[in-house]
Amino acid sequence: MSEEKSKAELLKEELCLKKEHFDEVYGDETGKADEFCKGYMNFLNAAKTERECNAYIIEKAKANGFEEFDPAKKYCQGDKIYYNNRSKAVILAVIGKKGMSEGAKIVASHIDSPRLDLKPTPLYEDSEMAYFKTHYYGGLRKYQWSAIPLSLHGVFIKKDGSVVNVNLGEKEDEPQFVITDLLPHLAKEQSKRTLAEGIKGEELNILIGSRPFKDDSGSELVKLNILKLLNEKYGITEADFVSAELELVPAFKARDIGFDRSLIGAYGHDDRVCAYPGIEGLFSLDVPEHTAIMVLADKEEIGSDGNTGLNSAFLKYFIADLAESEGIKGRHALSKSQCLSADVNAGFDPNYPSVHDKLNAAFLNHGVVVTKYTGARGKSGTSDASAEFVGKVRAILDEAKVCWQIGELGKVDEGGGGTVAMFLANLNIDVVDLGVPVLSMHAPFEVVAKADVYSTFKACEAFFKS
Ligand code: MN
Ligand code: MN
Repeated sequence: MSEEKSKAELLKEELCLKKEHFDEVYGDETGKADEFCKGYMNFLNAAKTERECNAYIIEKAKANGFEEFDPAKKYCQGDKIYYNNRSKAVILAVIGKKGMSEGAKIVASHIDSPRLDLKPTPLYEDSEMAYFKTHYYGGLRKYQWSAIPLSLHGVFIKKDGSVVNVNLGEKEDEPQFVITDLLPHLAKEQSKRTLAEGIKGEELNILIGSRPFKDDSGSELVKLNILKLLNEKYGITEADFVSAELELVPAFKARDIGFDRSLIGAYGHDDRVCAYPGIEGLFSLDVPEHTAIMVLADKEEIGSDGNTGLNSAFLKYFIADLAESEGIKGRHALSKSQCLSADVNAGFDPNYPSVHDKLNAAFLNHGVVVTKYTGARGKSGTSDASAEFVGKVRAILDEAKVCWQIGELGKVDEGGGGTVAMFLANLNIDVVDLGVPVLSMHAPFEVVAKADVYSTFKACEAFFKS
């Protein structure tokens, strides 16, 4: 039975901003979202660190017809290239019909996640137990990293330059590692600490063994036995830790969350949850109008400094090389380029409502979130996207029927954060943040909604094609 709408209802429809729920508006695409996320979850399990993401992405790019970038070469429309920056960051590009004359369409995300790095001299023995000392990487809440299973990923670089890859603790039969915590019975004093101090930086020590090397005499025989095992497995000595990059990450696999399986729990959604949709968006292109560039950066979690982070010149040089091969000045191509800084935002969490302004928060299942600015206090440390560029992006998303929402990172003065957006803006590129709303961001096990992951893929694809 259809009822006629009241005047107020009609006027509301015409004038008020609609907050779209994915299932209400795009419910017929739920199957597609679930299917897309199966591929995403495989990626999560296969590539947990920036180096593993780099290798995974380049392998997939090659399978999709991408060739290694050669700055001396002139590229034609439809050519697909990749640039490997030191095995930790990647640029993928599909040359468009307009070449670089009209600038590029760039999606930038990052493939590093918060974790525990080994110190240069990590190995020690205490009370007949062997440990690794760590130095945490990125903004993590230290107390969350004790008493969970950890796996070890990374590389030893030996003095002859040879690379020894390490990936231990992911397969069923492999050992894992852990940071122990106090039992509640004896935690009376520790429990008085603030949450930030619950586990201190120098207490993030990884338990790695307890069996001594079999000999009658000598000290530190447990440590010696660990070194013997490491030498047998990886051919390394204690000195090789000096030129190693070894990371402890949660050993969990990505899992469906909820009776309805609408969510994904995993380590490091931030920012692989934008990297993967961006890559898939790029792979879906035939010959785009504008040259499409997908940047997968390292070092975002520690401020984007360093030559694999987006505060370095590697993207600028790449675009300049492409432009100059067409006889165009690099800076002119940069100035005409547009970018989605594809990174996560905080999803509204009903468990902790006080940190959000509900009117301006991003909600799970309401699609990809466009974030005009991040930063802290009075918009400090951010690129506040222009209304003009947000207007363009808004039109692209609506045109492509993408489920999207606008959101801020928490209440004013509640805290804050940043993304790579400002480093792209510094190159005179138009840029706005866009990505997936996350619960428990930077925790060992973060949560996202499948509908939002799929919406981010649609957003990246539509932007590249625009
Ligand atoms: Mn991020
Ligand atoms: Mn982050």
